[in-house]
Amino acid sequence: MTNPKPDEYYMRQAMKLARKGEALGEVPIGCVIVYDGKIIGRGYNRRKTDKSTLSHAELIAIKKADKKIGDWRLEDCTLYVTLEPCQMCAGAIVQARIPRVVMGCKNPKAGCAGSILDLFHEPRFNHQVEVTEGVLEEECSEMLSGFFRALRLRLKTEAGEENEVPDSELKQNNPE
Ligand SMILES: [Zn+2]
Repeated sequence: MTNPKPDEYYMRQAMKLARKGEALGEVPIGCVIVYDGKIIGRGYNRRKTDKSTLSHAELIAIKKADKKIGDWRLEDCTLYVTLEPCQMCAGAIVQARIPRVVMGCKNPKAGCAGSILDLFHEPRFNHQVEVTEGVLEEECSEMLSGFFRALRLRLKTEAGEENEVPDSELKQNNPE
């Protein structure tokens, strides 16, 4: 299969996974890991569903890719994720020796690929990660803001028209 825009193609696959999470009421974040033109790991945020701090899209995809490759090292793989990874996932990406990450939108409040920290270009670590950002950025960002718009509306309806939704309710659902 010739693919003129492989980054966009794989980002769309990550977005599809994010939508699966959204259907479960999760903040929509999706991830795929590609090796030799094939997707070998898929994941989407399942933090609420699994009741697990560790159920971030990237970690789930890394676990699956490890299994498929039969190693903890994911050299020669590219990881696609719809939202800039948090410190935990960026750490796992460095640990997995993944050489390249492609991101949709940035996460100014929690991102560790440049927003808050940059774990991918830390010279004191023995592994650096090449980053391509802004692939389908608007669509990835719109997917998240759409989710929060709908959530706000739902909470407002539940709270009754005249009541403001407390910030704490929304914060609980913040991505990453
Ligand atoms: Zn994460």
